[in-house]
Amino acid sequence: MAPNASRPSYWSELMADKKPNGKCFLVGAGPGDLGLVTLRSKQCIEQADVVVYDYLSNPEMLKWAPESAEIIYAGKKAGAHTLTQDEINALLVDKARDGKQVVRLKGGDPFVFGRGAEEAQALAAAHVPFVVVPGITSAIAGPAYAGIPVTHRGKNSHVTFFTGHEDPEKSGTSIDVAALARLGGTQVMLMGVERIEAIAREMLANGMRSDLPVALIRWATTGRQETLVGNLENIARRVADSGFTAPAVVVFGDVVALRNELSWFEDQPLSGKRIVVTRTRSQAGVLSEQLRALGADVIELPTIRIEPPSDLRAFAELVQDAHSYDWIVFTSPNGVTAFFDLFYKLYNDAREIGGVRIAAIGPATAQRIKDFHLKVDLQPEEFVAESIVREFRKQGGVENLRILLARAEKARDLLPKELSALGAIVDEGFAYRTVPETRDVTGARRRLLEEGADLITFTSSSTVENFLALGLAWPAGMQVASIGPVTSATAHERGLEVAIEARRHDIMGLVEAIRKFF
Ligand code: SAH
Repeated sequence: MAPNASRPSYWSELMADKKPNGKCFLVGAGPGDLGLVTLRSKQCIEQADVVVYDYLSNPEMLKWAPESAEIIYAGKKAGAHTLTQDEINALLVDKARDGKQVVRLKGGDPFVFGRGAEEAQALAAAHVPFVVVPGITSAIAGPAYAGIPVTHRGKNSHVTFFTGHEDPEKSGTSIDVAALARLGGTQVMLMGVERIEAIAREMLANGMRSDLPVALIRWATTGRQETLVGNLENIARRVADSGFTAPAVVVFGDVVALRNELSWFEDQPLSGKRIVVTRTRSQAGVLSEQLRALGADVIELPTIRIEPPSDLRAFAELVQDAHSYDWIVFTSPNGVTAFFDLFYKLYNDAREIGGVRIAAIGPATAQRIKDFHLKVDLQPEEFVAESIVREFRKQGGVENLRILLARAEKARDLLPKELSALGAIVDEGFAYRTVPETRDVTGARRRLLEEGADLITFTSSSTVENFLALGLAWPAGMQVASIGPVTSATAHERGLEVAIEARRHDIMGLVEAIRKFF
């Protein structure tokens, strides 16, 4: 029941009126941080029929695309293109001519060294209508996230952007290093890590100061950001010694020194830590956001997906009779959502729920109930199934009371048994089922295997089971964080060592425990 994001109507009109003819949106994906994507970019992705994305656009954005959208990976690192530029141009034109809303996602800003202009020219030549959605360029955001303002009143009054990687078909060099040397100010180079040695040498030969500060920022604005600082004299050696690789933004200029005072992003509690979030796509958001806000590099790797129960009819019958129970017990937010989605299909009056009392395990479950404007009558302090039994006992027992339990298929059967043992008449309603997530639209699994991780978070037993069921190789050194004792027990049973267990068994508690651990 998440409220639908409202979109300005002019936008859907714009998207709709060209439908038969298709259109291409050249969209800036920003420098990497998901929060630095524009609202317009997100709208474009949400309404796309086709998304063509490249190496530098954060693949997490693909989760905004409709399930039916065709997702095409077009670009790889320099030198290893998946599609040639001509093929990309032709693809955009063809898909748009098919009547598709085509989103061409490009890292940073589409018109800054990204060959976006060439794509626009191809579209224009083919008379395919197009829209340009500018993005935040890494040339400015990268330095900013390293604590380097590209301008500063006391240090410089102009900025130059230049590319270090030139068109391979061009002969000779067209970077006018002599002009750069005369110009001074801040100079920002994109695509130049591999050529840093030659460029620094030429800059020195053209009279630039050997102690001019230089900084390289790689994977800027993401949890993998790293910054290397030196001067014109020593930077090439430092790059070689540290094995510093692309993609990186290089800043030449006195503003680099301001980093000593202004560095912020790399100094957060979880900076440099890569953390895997295994919740379902729809639930991962809060945990991922909180970890990212602390500087972590988050890989969202959903292992399960929520689907309707195998016997929806049986559950619907229980929902229909909900008013005849003394209690409804919810054990997860998903159960609450599934229950009320169905309830409001059956009834159009909230009062049909009658006088039934409502119990919730865990604050997230309670919150979801409150989202439906209902009061929670019983919420055990400890967020594990066992304690709800204890709370019922405290409330004078449940003898002869009718209890409806809305839960997942294949949930642990402790709760109904214990409640029955206390004399309650328990009906189990299977509200939903969790199925393995088989898709990997954002390439998270590949990333985990290639880059490893410092920590994996498990927020329920099923996330443990389902992660292991994927059969991925366990990255070296990856530790386990668990939301609570039940999840930890499952992890132990499956031979995992639990390094972190949340004291408070909810997302906030888990984040707090992770923060303390590092
Ligand atoms: N249109 C992009 C630039 C594309 S050219 C923009 O506006 O940012 C590709 C180059 O951009 C890379 O070689 C690198 O120099 C730079 N770049 C893009 N994203 C980056 C990031 N997150 N961190 C560091 N450099 C990045």
